[in-house]
Amino acid sequence: MRGFNEDQIIPFGMFAREEGVIVRFIEFMPLEEERTWSPNTVVTLDEILRRMGEYRPLVEIPHARSETARRFHFDDGLGEIGIIAPVSHPFCGHCSRIRITSDGKIRTCLFSVWDHDLYGQMRRGASDQELEDFIRGVVERKEQRHHIGEPDFVPASRTMVHIGG
Ligand code: SF4
Repeated sequence: MRGFNEDQIIPFGMFAREEGVIVRFIEFMPLEEERTWSPNTVVTLDEILRRMGEYRPLVEIPHARSETARRFHFDDGLGEIGIIAPVSHPFCGHCSRIRITSDGKIRTCLFSVWDHDLYGQMRRGASDQELEDFIRGVVERKEQRHHIGEPDFVPASRTMVHIGG
């Protein structure tokens, strides 16, 4: 987040190299409880790459298009950095994810404005076939993309802490 922790980009890169661990950055998304997100607070993938390059350049590692993170190692092959960039480089077109909440609701997108009540179906005694049909119907209506930063953006009906990540 700009003005909060962007000074940690290079130290985390050094940490990844020295400890041989994978470090992931994720762009700040408007899913937080306080609803303080603004485009200016987002430190983008391109900016992270540029800043990390002041330490050592990163080289991209090929990855499956449905992976959320773009993966990089340093130019000498050491360390691994993942950057999840849903704001500046949306990957919704390749999204294969749905989520189920701890109270039994299916969410077809992090930015869904409604839930689908799987628990309610089970509670009323739905058969396996009925549950399958329900889930298939829900998936077919999965959102095509998010609308972060667009004038018609509507905040998700649950913040990240109530979704489970
Ligand atoms: S469709 Fe929704 S859950 Fe999938 S990548 Fe886009 S914002 Fe995330």
